[in-house]
Amino acid sequence: MQQGRDIRRVGDGLNEKCGVVGVSLGEREAARPLYYSLYALQHRGQESAGIVTHDGFQQHSHVEMGLVGDVFDEDSLSTLRGTAGIGHVRYPTAGGVNSCCAQPFAVSFKSGSLGLAHNGNLVNADEIRSELEDLGHAFTSNGDTEVIAHDLARNLLEADLVRAVKRTMERIHGSYALTISHDDTVLGVRDPEGNRPLCIGKLDDGYVIASESAAIDTLDGELVRDVRPGELVVLENDGSGFDSYQLVDKENAAHCFFEHVYFSRPDSVIDGTLVYEVRRNLGRALWEESGVETDVVMPVPDSGRAFATGYAEAAGETTADGEQRAEDDDGVEFAEGLMKNRYVGRTFIMPTQDERERAVRLKLNPIRSTVEGKTVTLIDDSIVRGTTSTQLVQLLRDAGAEEVHMRIGAPPIVAPCYMGIDMHTREELIAADRSVAEVRDEIGADSLGYLSIDSIADCLQKSQADLCLGCVTGEYPYDIDGETTDRDVTRPAIGAEAPADD
Ligand code: SF4
Repeated sequence: MQQGRDIRRVGDGLNEKCGVVGVSLGEREAARPLYYSLYALQHRGQESAGIVTHDGFQQHSHVEMGLVGDVFDEDSLSTLRGTAGIGHVRYPTAGGVNSCCAQPFAVSFKSGSLGLAHNGNLVNADEIRSELEDLGHAFTSNGDTEVIAHDLARNLLEADLVRAVKRTMERIHGSYALTISHDDTVLGVRDPEGNRPLCIGKLDDGYVIASESAAIDTLDGELVRDVRPGELVVLENDGSGFDSYQLVDKENAAHCFFEHVYFSRPDSVIDGTLVYEVRRNLGRALWEESGVETDVVMPVPDSGRAFATGYAEAAGETTADGEQRAEDDDGVEFAEGLMKNRYVGRTFIMPTQDERERAVRLKLNPIRSTVEGKTVTLIDDSIVRGTTSTQLVQLLRDAGAEEVHMRIGAPPIVAPCYMGIDMHTREELIAADRSVAEVRDEIGADSLGYLSIDSIADCLQKSQADLCLGCVTGEYPYDIDGETTDRDVTRPAIGAEAPADD
């Protein structure tokens, strides 16, 4: 594995932020609930979508490039027979679209059939792939999901399902939330650090495992709980319940804090907290840490809305100096000053810099009457490359804003993500080698304030030791070549004797 300044070297560019789902029902066909769940998870990936089902005799698969609504129709859904199955939506890779990596990955082998849907990124996939290739395994993609599938298939030849999963978990290192179908049995697995979210829901006639609880809501289900870090959940084939196996126990988790700040839907409950509520509290903390008295505060829609709501709420209670407001002082007025064209995708998912730059102008338009002659605070969840922020500050100035102050609901992003998020290199991160004042100058704002790591942990109600903060500290919870860790962690020895069976 190469030095870690370019994530594309880790896992060969398989850097994805995806959505996964698995369903096991009593008698009803699983295809439609899977399809609706994927709709609910579409924000987690727009490159490809797929469903794999099993009817008790045979595995069925439909996986294509495109949005959920384009990939499936009545005909394709009707071919996906069976009461159990898994689904996946996938995010574009750094190098562009890649149909060989669309998921779920489906394979038949001696002990049956396997389907795998993966959210996350392994940091030792190359080592395991090379070992398996030496043993005669032939790979059809360069993805880490296929590596997991082959490793699991190999272990299933020698062990029962639970032990086989445990053996694979002892070998793979990195971030993974998986839904797996082994014939008509559906499983959910979360990596021992719980880096990516995964939760269990109960339906009238079965159970569902999904990346986010919003998918369970879509099916009129009830959130049971999160899958625990290091836990395997096996759904009963008849939809009557699930079994739980705590296969790996680690002292600390490493939940991706960005799930709460940016990725997940605000209406999802992740690791026990409602994402919207967390974002509102982050906005309140932002006011307390770096509030500025301006005429209006406005969100970058839609990502900054919950933050701006909390910020304006807190600004109505105390002044920027932390004093109680006088009764006739209303604080900073909340206003919608940027209108969004809802038919343009999120800029963050545009694969090339050129597309990202044009997308900002396509996507947002200022409301001149709200902005003209006013001092404005603009709130967003994060600054990654800085392109959007620069253009938005300019848009507001062009619309007549007297001052534009930027406030961000996350700390500066100074390092890449190796766990599947589209932040590849330090070179493309505006804050990687700039001070806050330099970033402020670069984006052209009158002032710039980020949120502290302490406030992130407080608002998520988690210890910093249980969060992944790699992209804001440069220290990671996994053993990544060329990077430092924030805990005592070593990647498993691959090629060494297999861990003893228990
Ligand atoms: S490095 Fe950042 S984006 Fe990646 S998993 Fe960690 S917190 Fe999330």
